[in-house]
Amino acid sequence: MRHETILSGGLVVDGTGTPAYRGDIAIAAGKIAAIGDLSQAEAATRVDCTGLVVAPGFIDAHTHDDAILLDFPEMPMKASQGVTTVVAGNCGVSVGAVALKGEPPPPLDLLGDRKTYRFARFGDWRKALADAPAAVNSIGMVGHSSLRVQTMGDLGRPADAKEQAAMERIAEGAMEDGALGVSTGLFYAPARMAPTREVTGLARIAAKAGGIYATHLRDEGEFLEQAVDEALQIGREAGLAVVLSHHKAAGKPHHGKTARTLATIDAARKHQPVTLDVYPYVASSTVLNVERLDISTKVLITWSKAMPAARGRDLAELAAEHGLDIHAMAARLQPAGAIYFMMDEADVRRVLAWPEAMIGSDGLPHDTHPHPRLWGTFPRVLGHYARELKLFTLEEAVRKMTSLPAKRFGLAGRGRLAKGNWADIATFDAALVADRATFETPTRPAAGIARVYVNGQCVWADGAPTGNRPGRCLALDRGAIDFAG
Ligand SMILES: [Zn+2]
Repeated sequence: MRHETILSGGLVVDGTGTPAYRGDIAIAAGKIAAIGDLSQAEAATRVDCTGLVVAPGFIDAHTHDDAILLDFPEMPMKASQGVTTVVAGNCGVSVGAVALKGEPPPPLDLLGDRKTYRFARFGDWRKALADAPAAVNSIGMVGHSSLRVQTMGDLGRPADAKEQAAMERIAEGAMEDGALGVSTGLFYAPARMAPTREVTGLARIAAKAGGIYATHLRDEGEFLEQAVDEALQIGREAGLAVVLSHHKAAGKPHHGKTARTLATIDAARKHQPVTLDVYPYVASSTVLNVERLDISTKVLITWSKAMPAARGRDLAELAAEHGLDIHAMAARLQPAGAIYFMMDEADVRRVLAWPEAMIGSDGLPHDTHPHPRLWGTFPRVLGHYARELKLFTLEEAVRKMTSLPAKRFGLAGRGRLAKGNWADIATFDAALVADRATFETPTRPAAGIARVYVNGQCVWADGAPTGNRPGRCLALDRGAIDFAG
């Protein structure tokens, strides 16, 4: 048999966490046709992978890529890291199932302006991606804040019965159209006044379709533990799996709290499906938010409509230059985005090392001076945390990025190198792989990533996108969602 491509001589890290082994991998018709000693097999193209790891393509468990998949389909910020599938629609913000007449309020403006929110049905967004595919695969959730902005005139109160029914109707349509589940961003202004029961109502819609509930918690500092309890309660009452987004303890007085939240989550896992994602940095990033200023040791501006030249600048320095305090300076920059140094390295390591933790970049691809997590998350876990700090083995790092999220999100045939699975593959040099995106130069591609394949086609090689766009926008596969093992 003649294969399209054989990746030969690499070290196979298959995604399950089992030790690496020498092996060749054959690709045909988008899938893995064979694994083993294929030195005698014929192939149109043979790629020498000697000295490289061959792993399943990484699954970015937490993204805000809904619009960038369409606007910048080569997706270099993800393909350059070895990412082959992105989970979109997080933190209550989705582009799917939202058509806005006015300008989107923060944090919806992180994804673009009114023209970005043009997909009345969730299926319209999926169809747009089918018509103009991206380089990487995607799957999306429908966002609670997006539903609120579209449905409610006054966001500063709970939804009334009519608004609740309207949101549930749209969510139901989204689930019919293949949404993975419902997400919330209860921390943010558009959703903050939503009581637990409003969210539980929407979560029930996702549950009925077999989907999941992902949440940016109501609070990540003083009331972190109560916020975790609320998320677990919603999961129990609605009867569905919960994903705690970008798990962290924000603000110095709250450092160390992840020891308690992880214990709570471990205990809850005996009774209900729950997991989390995390990014490997002590700084967070979102819209410029007044409440974040006082709990951060340093704030960097990622974009500003009022003062575009402020991007990349330190807020305290800007404030000094203008003779203002940081709050007055922040007001002058709005609307804007920022990076907040407010976590403790010990919490970051504890969450990363938790065996169930998935890796999610939470990158903000529309920011003009983005947080480096957008370009650096996956190589940083492999290079800094696995190789240098030995927080876990290479095989374990790869498992957190591949088979684990594939199970939790029901991505059948992905996340594991096995015959018959989709050929989503990343090849990299384990000794060199490293993030090069920094807070100063945030869009530098990672080092050590060699070639990246999506559905059997090479999308990244020799440090650049190939121009191929084989990505598929996937739909919820309820039978494949697995929180058991
Ligand atoms: Zn978030």
